[in-house]
Order: sequence, then structure tokens, then C-alpha cells
Amino acid sequence: MIEHYQPHWMTDELEAMRDLARRFVAEQVTPNQERWYEQGATDRKVWTKAGELGILTPDISEVYGGSGGTFAHEALIAHELCIAGDTSWRAGKQIHVIAAHYIERYGTEEQKRHYLPRLASGELIAGMGMTEPGGGTDLQSMKTRAERYSDGYRIRGSKTFITNGSIGDVLVLAAKTDPNARAKGVSLFIFETRTAGFRVGKRLKKIGLHGSDTCELFFDDCEVPADSLLGGIEGQGFYQMMKDLTYERALSGVNNAAVIEHAFRVTRDYVKERMAFGKPLLDLQHVRIQMAEVKTIATIARVFADFTIERMLDGSMDTSVASMSKWWLSEQQCEIVHRCLQMFGGHGYILDYPIARMYVDARIEPIYGGSNEILKELIGRAL
Ligand SMILES: Cc1cc2nc3c(=O)[nH]c(=O)nc-3n(C[C@H](O)[C@H](O)[C@H](O)COP(=O)(O)OP(=O)(O)OC[C@H]3O[C@@H](n4cnc5c(N)ncnc54)[C@H](O)[C@@H]3O)c2cc1C
Repeated sequence: MIEHYQPHWMTDELEAMRDLARRFVAEQVTPNQERWYEQGATDRKVWTKAGELGILTPDISEVYGGSGGTFAHEALIAHELCIAGDTSWRAGKQIHVIAAHYIERYGTEEQKRHYLPRLASGELIAGMGMTEPGGGTDLQSMKTRAERYSDGYRIRGSKTFITNGSIGDVLVLAAKTDPNARAKGVSLFIFETRTAGFRVGKRLKKIGLHGSDTCELFFDDCEVPADSLLGGIEGQGFYQMMKDLTYERALSGVNNAAVIEHAFRVTRDYVKERMAFGKPLLDLQHVRIQMAEVKTIATIARVFADFTIERMLDGSMDTSVASMSKWWLSEQQCEIVHRCLQMFGGHGYILDYPIARMYVDARIEPIYGGSNEILKELIGRAL
């Protein structure tokens, strides 16, 4: 967005990986968009192809089959997906990477060695099972229960709005091991969806993200081995979630900035070509001023995204900055896409135009991964 500017964290190796990701998106993602939209989910093939190239879990350690990169690797791949207008695979991939991070950060050595290489290759697709029909913000009140019995745990309950819900093979699943405790009663499990008693309910019809499957999931007395408890210690789940949400929120913010950039580009091209009153729209002063403002905000967004990446790379990221990044950039994304769509006139309402898809896809950004209200609350508490 900022002409002739390279963030100082960029390296030759990162540039090469970004070019690889760009080719991958052009060959394996963009041509499949329409079909994924129609079928409401991605194909397994894109996951295994990405696995072959080492771009599925780029910042998971090589010891566990990942590519041994950094947050910048993941951010650049996500950026390429955003500027190609993809939301189908990106939504699923983001959750997959987040789930892999939970396992790498909190799993036992055995759990890491068992699951991470399969997540890196695309043999397994992962999801995150936190939200329940009764609420996603107040996670301490979750109802899904994991009851200890001699051989393991018996899991009973339901989850909703789960990305990769129908295509996922494993879930990092939150459940109450102590129903009488709030935060201390929550534990995370690595749950295999082939477990007896697991059932996928409806694939939910959404206003956007049409190529990403979002589902209700049911757990009817699913018996899982004791060693499926993430990290092997009960009652750690809530704290693990609070810590790892920082990664998710930082990544969301970076994506929001990339979508803003994409919205600017497609709109700039449109207003240069579309004629009104015998001249391009861009020759109208009001449109020029709008575009000047959009470009300014896109530039600020880029700077904030780079700052976010920097903090992730130097290890200084904290809850407040990750929350600021996600709430502000997601709100800007919605606002900018809304303003850009207006400049398309009626075409902006037609789904053949990328801006129309960006509009419906944007609306979830201030809601999932921690709603913006909660993020502001977190920032406020740390003032
Ligand atoms: C497309 C999509 C994909 C998703 N993917 C996943 C997934 O993969 N895994 C997963 O676990 N979840 C997923 N979610 C769920 C998402 O994270 C939740 O929707 C979100 O956390 C909000 O929870 P809720 O919908 O239950 O809203 P509620 O918790 O009912 O909140 C409703 C409103 O009240 C506000 N509110 C609640 N409490 C407070 C408070 N204390 N102070 C101020 N305001 C408050 C919220 O900000 C929100 O505006 C997904 C959702 C969607 C739509």
C-alpha cells in the first residue's frame, strides 16, 4: 500500500515464500472459489497441496513437521489470500493454524509428535470448538461436560458456529471437567471427529463466507482416552485460550489490513474505468476525495499491521495491542468496504463483483475471535 516501502522484518527468504504463496493462491485457490461457494466448503485437495509446499502450518517448528518459520510467514500467506479475495480457504486455514498452535504450545510431547506432522501435511484438518449455543463470549459458563471415567473422559454437549465443522478431523475442544468451577473448570481436549457419538448438525447458512463451512456439532457421550486432554492437566483450558487468543487476534488484524488494501485497489480500478457524465468517476471531486481518504486509511492500516507483526516477531505482543489491532482494523475493514461499495453503485450489490463479496464477508470480523466489545473491555482493564 505504501509505495516503495518494505517493512524492516522482510527478508529475501520471506519474499520467496510470499511468491510461492502467490502462485499457490493463483493455481489452487482462485480457480476453485465459485465451486467452494456453491458447495459451502473447500476441498481436501487444497489442504494437502498446501501441505506439500510447506505453507499450511508455516510457523510450527520443523521438529513437529511444520516449516519452522515465524508469524511473518503466516501473515504473508494470509495477506496473499486476502488480496486475492479469498475467504473460503482462508477462514478454514486460519482456524487450522490456530489449533496447531494450541497443540504446539500446550500439548504433551506425545500429542505434538502425533498430531502436528499430520496437520502440517494436510492429512488432518483441524477446528476450534469453543462457542456453544448458550454463548461464545462468556466461555466460563460453557455447558459441554467432560466427565472422567476409568479409561478416559466422556464428553457430552454441543458447540455451534464451528469453522471446519463438517470437514475437520480433529478439534481443539473446550469442555468443563469441573462443572462447579468457572474458569478453573474448563479444560481443552484434542478430539477426533471419528469418535463414536460425534455428530455434525446443520451447516449454517451465513450472510457471507459462503465457501467456509460453519456448523453445529453434537457430542453424545463421546468416549475419549485420558491422553486426549491437552497438556495432560485439567483446568488449564480457560487460561490457555486467553493466552493463545493473542495469536488469533494479531492474525485477524493483519488480515483486516490486507482486505482494506484489496478494497482500495479494486475500487480505484473501477472508478478509473466507469464513466459518468462523459468522464471517469475518479474525475468527480467527491469520488477523488473518498479515494484519498480510503488510501490514507489503508496506509495507516498497513503501518498498524506491520507494527503488529513486529511485536509478534520480537515477542513483545500483549493482549492490549493484539486487541487494538483486531478491533480497530476490523472496524476499518467494514467501514472502508462499505464506502468503496457505494462507489460501485448498483454493481456493488451484485455478487459477481468482488466488492459485494467483501461487504458480506466483512461483517463477521468484529464478532468472531472475541467480539470488539470484549476486546475494548480487555484494553480498558489494562489501562
Ligand atoms: C462465521 C463464524 C465462524 C466462527 N468460527 C468459530 C470457530 O471456529 N470456533 C468457535 O469456537 N467459535 C466460532 N465462532 C463463534 C464466535 O467466536 C462467536 O460468535 C463470538 O465469540 C461471539 O459469541 P456469541 O455469538 O455467542 O455472542 P454473545 O456472547 O451472545 O454476545 C452477543 C453480543 O453481546 C456482547 N457482549 C457479550 N458479553 C459482553 C460483555 N461482557 N460486555 C460487553 N458486551 C458483551 C458481544 O460483544 C456481542 O455483541 C464463529 C462465528 C461465526 C459467525
